[in-house]
Amino acid sequence: TVCVVGSLNLDLVTRVRRHPRPGETVTGEWTRTFPGGKGANQALAAARAGARTQLVGRVGADGNSYLAGLAERGVDCAAVLVTPDEATGRAIVMVDEQGENNIVVCPGANGHVTAADVDARAVISADVLLLQLELPVDVVRRAIDLAAAAGVRTVLNASPWSLSASELAELADVVIVNEHEAAALGPVPGTVCVTLGSRGARWLGIHVPAPEVQAVDTTGAGDAFAGTLAARLAAVAEPGQALHAAVTAGAAACCHLGPQGWALTG
Ligand code: ADP
Repeated sequence: TVCVVGSLNLDLVTRVRRHPRPGETVTGEWTRTFPGGKGANQALAAARAGARTQLVGRVGADGNSYLAGLAERGVDCAAVLVTPDEATGRAIVMVDEQGENNIVVCPGANGHVTAADVDARAVISADVLLLQLELPVDVVRRAIDLAAAAGVRTVLNASPWSLSASELAELADVVIVNEHEAAALGPVPGTVCVTLGSRGARWLGIHVPAPEVQAVDTTGAGDAFAGTLAARLAAVAEPGQALHAAVTAGAAACCHLGPQGWALTG
């Protein structure tokens, strides 16, 4: 089992010819609402990679069809709470013709997750606890502490980058970062897995190149990578095999619009 304590967002996505400069207005080609949020993206990737997956987090009153869609796709959402007087977290995403994105995240209900919301049973009964940095830092810390006390392996995707990333990274067994985050992080005691975009990823001295793909939207590629790596580790795969599966999933995630490959209507 993989337990993901993390964020759920509704992503409002538009395609632009090129990104606007500050003060500039550009025309988007269309808008669509995609399910997103690093926690949910990673949980769905773990489920698709074959792991029993439990997600812990919060949505607003507008999050029910999102949760139903995740549950239909294999993510156990029983420990996702509803904050009735907040909106589900939102991301405003612009994707350009190269598939490069610019993102603004509004935490909404994710900002209301507390350390007390972390379902201890879900954490300590897991093989792997998977975390990101889109929830309040004390929530991430509480989840790591619970897991560490129970001997559950912890995987931290130290993204989006924050000042507490280095401190939390010291507590995790495996840290997943992209190249920018790796540079900011510096050396940590656990093992660091670095994703290299179209060049694949590197972990424990192993470099796995990515398959060449026609990227249409790279949003969520790193999340597909992290969720898949966690699922393979929960299944006790060899590191090289786990890394290969994660790189393949990351590349596949670049080939569809939206981080999870499904859309919400309305
Ligand atoms: P992030 O999206 O978190 O910044 P990366 O850009 O390093 O992370 O991408 C994460 C993973 O997604 C990579 O390790 C790779 O497997 C895959 N990936 C990302 N961009 C591409 C691409 N252009 N072509 C093929 N695979 C990609």
